[in-house]
Amino acid sequence: MTSPFDAWITEDVEVTTLLAEEWRRQTSTLQLIASENFASPAVLAATGSILTNKYAEGYPGRRYYGGNQIVDQVEDLARRRLTALFGADHANVQPHSGANANVAVYQALLEPGDTILAMRLDQGGHLTHGSPASMTSKAWHFVSYGVTPRHDDPDAPGELIDFDNVRDLAREHRPKLIVAGATAYSRLIDPVAFREIADEVGAMLMFDSAHVAGLIAGGVHPNPVPYSDVVTFTTHKTLRGPRGGAILCREEHAKRIDSAVFPGQQGGPLEHAIAAKAVAFREASLPSFADYAAQIVANAAAFGRALAEQGFRLVSGGTENHMVLLDLRSFDAELTGKQAQEVLDRAGITTNRNTIPDDPRSAFVTSGLRVGTAAETTAGLRESEFAQVAALMARALRERADEGSVAAVRAQVGELCARFNPYASFTG
Ligand SMILES: *Cc1c(COP(=O)(O)O)cnc(C)c1O
Repeated sequence: MTSPFDAWITEDVEVTTLLAEEWRRQTSTLQLIASENFASPAVLAATGSILTNKYAEGYPGRRYYGGNQIVDQVEDLARRRLTALFGADHANVQPHSGANANVAVYQALLEPGDTILAMRLDQGGHLTHGSPASMTSKAWHFVSYGVTPRHDDPDAPGELIDFDNVRDLAREHRPKLIVAGATAYSRLIDPVAFREIADEVGAMLMFDSAHVAGLIAGGVHPNPVPYSDVVTFTTHKTLRGPRGGAILCREEHAKRIDSAVFPGQQGGPLEHAIAAKAVAFREASLPSFADYAAQIVANAAAFGRALAEQGFRLVSGGTENHMVLLDLRSFDAELTGKQAQEVLDRAGITTNRNTIPDDPRSAFVTSGLRVGTAAETTAGLRESEFAQVAALMARALRERADEGSVAAVRAQVGELCARFNPYASFTG
């Protein structure tokens, strides 16, 4: 199939060739990275639009450059669509990424050295939640909560956010800000439980919904906006927009949030990305997006069940979102996350290795693998196809020493991808 983006073909043969190769890779292999998606042609078109040329430091009506009459309308539209989508007081659509959005919030609401209570990276949190590798841990004082110990009783799954631990740490350390939200956590995160703890200790609450923003917009996860001082998210994960970030907040924080993003953190906003965010926010408000979000979750549940039948242990015993976190040790004690990711790459199945709670291996090697259903649900896969993908993954990993087997899986993956092209489902 030829790319629908033939307009990209320019006299720059090298880049054009690479884009065509990437088009082929994305549409002939399975994209199971939980943080990825296939943005619509309308989102891609806006991202590649004429707005890339414009400088617009400031905010609508208060710019430092001329010529922003139209850009102001674009950014206002994005903000209006976003506040309507989540029922928020105020929106800032300028953060270049989810990480920028989080740091801007810390900068807006805290002084350097203030205490933040957030989820530990190796238990599912994000780098910007105070990982030693992130500048956030140098500028603010982080205290970290984790998940409950593992249980093998299916009726009492462990590896869930340990709210007793959150409450104890909050009482002991009196954080100014509590951060809810995760990067590698397959369960629903209850904003009410976090709000109660924040209220008890007089902390503000930031809900980082980077992964699940699309599930919230689609109505399958609870909306954290009524319970949070601030909600941050990325626009490119389940929300299926362009790469970028956004912040929602209560009116009382609006001025400080806006000044922390610009001029606090960033210079000129990426108005082409903001136009694409506006497109994505409209798409996410349509009834078809609610169906999409429900299918993502149904697919993840079916995928998880099928993977468990193949012998993989699901961290926390299951999934309630778009993600399944696998403990590979039950499948094969020798198999590391790094190896599994490499074998699956050869089989045309794109995943990422991930640490699991109390992982004995390093973050570079890991005992876990993270998979998600958001992208391939966009392509049209349903429960039965995800069960088939689980079987293909298990075969490739089990028979990884046999090149012929891996090639046979690769061929079946190719057939599946030919039947489910993400860019066919957006047309018509
Ligand atoms: C992905 C993610 C981010 C950061 O997003 P980037 O756009 O990659 O900077 C922040 N928080 C959480 C929980 C995430 O999963």
